[in-house]
Amino acid sequence: MMVNSNAAAPARVSKRVPRKIVLLGATGSIGRSTVDLLERDPEGFSVSAIAGGSKVDELARVARAVKAEFVAIRDETKYAELKEALAGTNIQVGAGREAVIEAALREADLVVSAIVGAAGLEPTYAALEAGRDVALANKECLVCAGVLFMRTAERVGATLLPMDSEHNAIFQALGGEDPARIERMIVTASGGPFRTWTKDKIDSATVEEALNHPNWAMGPKITIDSAGMMNKGLELIEAHHLFGVPAEKLEVVVHPQSIVHGMVTFSDGSVTAGMAPPDMRAPIAHCLGWPERLTTPVARLDFAKIATLTFEAPDFERFPALRLALDALAHGDGLPTILNAANEIAVEAFLDRRIAFSQIARHVADACEAAVKDGTAREPIDVAEALAVDHITREKSRSILAA
Ligand code: NAD
Ligand code: MG
Repeated sequence: MMVNSNAAAPARVSKRVPRKIVLLGATGSIGRSTVDLLERDPEGFSVSAIAGGSKVDELARVARAVKAEFVAIRDETKYAELKEALAGTNIQVGAGREAVIEAALREADLVVSAIVGAAGLEPTYAALEAGRDVALANKECLVCAGVLFMRTAERVGATLLPMDSEHNAIFQALGGEDPARIERMIVTASGGPFRTWTKDKIDSATVEEALNHPNWAMGPKITIDSAGMMNKGLELIEAHHLFGVPAEKLEVVVHPQSIVHGMVTFSDGSVTAGMAPPDMRAPIAHCLGWPERLTTPVARLDFAKIATLTFEAPDFERFPALRLALDALAHGDGLPTILNAANEIAVEAFLDRRIAFSQIARHVADACEAAVKDGTAREPIDVAEALAVDHITREKSRSILAA
């Protein structure tokens, strides 16, 4: 089911207490915020499974805190260590790729997809295909295989709830209105740490400078994406699939206060906006409780104190990654998958201090250009194809950036 659907909320997700949750990416930034909310409401939620990458202690701590029935760690070599860390509990333990998929398939009313990067595709898709409602923090699922995810949700009758703050705000701003009456859909961007910097200064920014986000505390990959505005580009691709809105109706506006996260302009000139403090617990809580509302400790907006909300046009010159993502969206086919993979490897190389900040966008541009020239990029028809394109692009990117 598309999230812009007019249909009333399905009865099966309403009034079920406690709601059973699966949390994929439990040790990350979104994972920790989700756990914070779950821990505050032990009567409202039970956790059937959690999954994480490689942090044994953190995963074990979360598993105990939320009383998870099953915990999966992606790194197979960590099985014994995790088992040991959970000794004396009756929490089941699994390790490796299959175990993460098993976690995704455990019984649940809602699966929270918060693994970072294309690594989130397989388990998230497994859950969706099995008919689970999915709250998507992971944007790479829709960037790499948006048509497939939306079609599958429709086919199996599952709901994809947007957990990314901008999309969650737009979802709330839509309020069940007729999608045909949408004239524009506006995603806001904070502008990141380099909003006022010159092009030269941005191009040679250090890792520390790029990680120093003014408004949001997030995982390293998305923080670097935000600094170059690739994150906003990925979010436009995400919005296109999630809300079924064509690229020409999508717009980015820079809004440094990060209070308004998304807006919708309707055919009568009315605009609705989704607002919240810059705290991911607001959109996460919206998804966890949907279609009802939870009560959270998120700070309340004091508009008299905020006093000023400002907006400015994005600068494609200083932030070329935004244009690259828009071009990939316009081109369609498998190009967004290639853009995403090349970007993941380039961000990794930047974080490892092997390339300059300016090389991230340059590398992504080269990868996209080469793919268009080769004609290799078609819209992935299944997850295996998306992952194959992802894999080949990563290998190419790794060898280019190693040279
Ligand atoms: P993070 O790096 O903080 O956490 C990533 C999580 O994924 C960790 O739990 C890690 O152990 C796990 N993981 C990594 N690889 C894995 C694998 N192969 N198998 C299983 N688990 C694996 O990232 P984050 O900032 O929490 O972001 C998660 C996703 O949510 C990203 O797609 C990001 O774009 C999106 N998102 C994040 C925010 C935010 O505020 N952090 C906001 C909007 C969207
Ligand atoms: Mg976002």
